[in-house]
Amino acid sequence: MSVDSGLFCQDPPSLGNQFDDDRMFRSLMTRRFGDTLAEVAPRLREMGAIAGGELYRAQLDDRLNEPVLTRWDPWGQRIDKIDLTPLWRRAARLSAEFGLVGEAYERRWGAVSRSLRFGLVYLFHPSSDVYTCPLAMTDGAARTLLDSGNRPLIDRAVGHLISRDPEQAWTSGQWMTEATGGSDVGQSQTVAVKQEGDIWKLSGRKWFTSAATSEIALTLARPEGNPEGGKGLALFYLEPRDTTGSLNGIRVCRLKDKLGTRKVPTAELILEGAEAHLVKRPHGGVRDIVPMLEMTRTWNSVCAVATMRRGLALARDYARRRVAFGRPLAEQPLHLDTLALAQAQTESCLHLCFYLVDLIGRREAEGLSELGMKELRLLTSLTKLTTGRTAVSVMSETLEAFGGAGYVEDTGLPMLLRDAQVLPIWEGTTNVLSLDLLRASAETGGFDSLLALIQRCRAGCTDTRLREATALAEVSAGRALEWFGQRSREEDHRSIEAGARRMALTLGQSVGLALLSEHAQWALTGQGDERSALAASRLAAEGFGRLIDPPADATASLALDG
Ligand SMILES: Cc1cc2nc3c(=O)[nH]c(=O)nc-3n(C[C@H](O)[C@H](O)[C@H](O)COP(=O)(O)OP(=O)(O)OC[C@H]3O[C@@H](n4cnc5c(N)ncnc54)[C@H](O)[C@@H]3O)c2cc1C
Repeated sequence: MSVDSGLFCQDPPSLGNQFDDDRMFRSLMTRRFGDTLAEVAPRLREMGAIAGGELYRAQLDDRLNEPVLTRWDPWGQRIDKIDLTPLWRRAARLSAEFGLVGEAYERRWGAVSRSLRFGLVYLFHPSSDVYTCPLAMTDGAARTLLDSGNRPLIDRAVGHLISRDPEQAWTSGQWMTEATGGSDVGQSQTVAVKQEGDIWKLSGRKWFTSAATSEIALTLARPEGNPEGGKGLALFYLEPRDTTGSLNGIRVCRLKDKLGTRKVPTAELILEGAEAHLVKRPHGGVRDIVPMLEMTRTWNSVCAVATMRRGLALARDYARRRVAFGRPLAEQPLHLDTLALAQAQTESCLHLCFYLVDLIGRREAEGLSELGMKELRLLTSLTKLTTGRTAVSVMSETLEAFGGAGYVEDTGLPMLLRDAQVLPIWEGTTNVLSLDLLRASAETGGFDSLLALIQRCRAGCTDTRLREATALAEVSAGRALEWFGQRSREEDHRSIEAGARRMALTLGQSVGLALLSEHAQWALTGQGDERSALAASRLAAEGFGRLIDPPADATASLALDG
């Protein structure tokens, strides 16, 4: 008899088909695809099975594997070779075969092609060990190159970036951040020197380059003689290695030792005359890379919702297994209350996110009205900052829902929180995007389009609970905009800047609640399903007005003197 026989062992949480088990996502896809759902559902279901089965198991088995940088070969040759984890190699094949980039460009489903593609990404992401990072930049690179009109570069790279053949598929990096500035990218010090023909040589240091194994990269550098600041930067295309695998004037200094995203090979690079090509023009690079940022911010938002949903799927399953004080957690009112709020927050983020996805899909397929273009500009930053912040708090809550097990590495749970923490940092921090939202408002003539969106959602709601929820969304957004209008009239720029994040999060949550309510009305009327309505009422009951105006002196003293 073994010494531990008879000891209690807790069942671990388990996952089923991640499409079939996800009521809120299936409801969204049913609405988007209508009669054609039967045609796309098998692919979503197949991805749901892989994500909840083979890939999830591989992720747990692969937990301790990390990318490895080998700087020298046995004979003293500098090689800077990066070996990826087994799961990443599998994820690369799956991504190409499922068209996780390509589907959006094949556009077989017209305006909803992006919804299908991002639907697949949503299912794939939480089991992919953040392989979605290079995919996001690949999608961004394809969009940026196509928008640039640079025929030779399009012919050279885009076919590979969107390929469904794993042997042909390329990924792209996005090398913007330097030690002098990630948010303040205008401080970049990389210099570009013109050579014969259309070749340039780049020299400098890139401080964070994820997906350092990608076949191409889009990067910023300052052509010699250009002015300081963002305006003097130009956008370049380069291929880090030639066909023999030798590096193109690049040294990999090290891989970053990070809190999370441990499988992503994020490197520091030194460029020493790396050969590159101008994507568009010898200046204006910060503007020219905007299509990349729009895309990666949207991926970030989708991945944030996918992460929250994974935490909840596991916590929900565990609540049915774990018994405390004589009853399963699933029968304990306070535990249920905690999970219910996390579900409501996730559901609101899902609708915020896929509204943005829908705008992108419609712009590509049929073009957007002026109002649609305004919404797109405002919602890209707003959705990213709202979902990124919410993901960290929802993941923290869902880890706590496992008690001590949530803190133990080989359950695979802590990784979820660590990976979530990057979502509000990369692709623009919460503060930086809140300030970008102010710029977006100045460019598009204000925030009225967001208020109009909330009002449209409200007009479509007949259910009393949803009328109340959308009324709260309208009042909260209205107050935020009133605050902004008042400070703008007073030209109180300091208060506007200090309050930008509070305003942005209030607006993001208001729009999310309105879109969730609109969907809930559709689900009630057409499907007799009231669960989205319960989510909307729950969120409304929590409330989320955040605007206060603390005196600037008090804020500075609290922040800096403690
Ligand atoms: C895992 C990981 C992978 C990454 N991969 C890549 C990559 O592949 N390519 C790439 O280019 N970059 C990458 N990055 C870099 C990332 O995009 C930057 O770290 C991020 O943009 C922030 O820049 P920073 O680190 O310079 O921080 P800073 O800009 O120094 O910001 C520090 C703090 O100051 C705040 N702040 C800055 N300016 C203001 C302001 N005006 N008002 C209020 N607050 C402000 C920020 O919100 C932040 O909290 C990666 C980062 C991580 C963590």
